[in-house]
Amino acid sequence: MNSYIELQNITKHFKKQSVLNIPSLSINKGEIVSIVGPSGTGKSTLLRILAGLEEPDSGQIFIENQSMAGITPQDRPVVYMFQESLLFPHMDLLENVAFGLKMRRVNKTKRYELSRNMMKRVGIEGLESRYPHEISGGQKQRAALARSLIVNPKVLLLDEPFSNLDTELRKETRRWMKRLLKDEKITVLFVTHDLEEAMAMGDRVAIFRDGQMQQFAVPEDLYDSPANPFVSSFLHAGFWMGDRFIPSSTLTICNEVNDTFHHWKAEIVETFFQDSKNHLVVCLNNCEHLITLTSEKHKKVGDQVILQEKEAVNEKGGKE
Ligand code: ADP
Ligand code: MG
Repeated sequence: MNSYIELQNITKHFKKQSVLNIPSLSINKGEIVSIVGPSGTGKSTLLRILAGLEEPDSGQIFIENQSMAGITPQDRPVVYMFQESLLFPHMDLLENVAFGLKMRRVNKTKRYELSRNMMKRVGIEGLESRYPHEISGGQKQRAALARSLIVNPKVLLLDEPFSNLDTELRKETRRWMKRLLKDEKITVLFVTHDLEEAMAMGDRVAIFRDGQMQQFAVPEDLYDSPANPFVSSFLHAGFWMGDRFIPSSTLTICNEVNDTFHHWKAEIVETFFQDSKNHLVVCLNNCEHLITLTSEKHKKVGDQVILQEKEAVNEKGGKE
């Protein structure tokens, strides 16, 4: 086994209902893997199983070739930072950050020294004697991360860590956090239901549905070759004609039908401006498919348009 984290045949049921079924998953050292999918698809259950907080019904987990079977959460080289990673309200930040070291019986001088350094690394130097209610949401996030990293985990499990932050702060936080995690060369599983966040944070992204991993790949491959219609519609990446996938990047909006090209009628359901480009969300076939594409053309919600492949039909071998 060359991978750093290896899962084999992991299954989990709650009340006879299957909530997780992962035949295999391999993660490399230093990799950040995003796990994204609708709510209730087993993402937190997977992290809890990795952390040892939940027992799988079957299967094995290896971290650095060591089986995690029978290893208690405290003895795993893993830290689980969950949604509301609340700081202890009665402790100042230095004590909060140092907490994991205190549990490991590191002496006071040493643990405060290490904690001060860690607070510097996450950018909250100078706030050592503040209490959690005296700092901002973003600073709390940094303190919570410092508290997790202080024990030098090999693997960091982040469960929707930004869900309490507002949009702008979420973006800023994920940027510095990704940079820090990469600098620390830590291996990370990052759970989110936010697609944009998953794509921004992850070196690779695993898409979950009903406890099963639909696809695990780098973002480009997910968009260009989605494994199935669930993945393509989750990403708004394009649609399927039989078993041929048509990525949204190969589609353009035109005003008239031209029979040299495949074309479809569609309706604009949303428009937004992002990254200096107009984006249109369009639906095809009575909204069976939603796809997002960029377009120079000015369109508004409710407009009927024609979507056309950029390349002529016979070049693609689709139709003579
Ligand atoms: P996600 O994190 O993707 O939203 P979860 O892993 O929290 O999903 O939950 C997966 C499924 O398992 C859900 O249907 C949830 O209701 C169920 N579930 C999670 N934990 C328990 C539990 N302790 N007891 C019973 N059902 C649970
Ligand atoms: Mg969850």
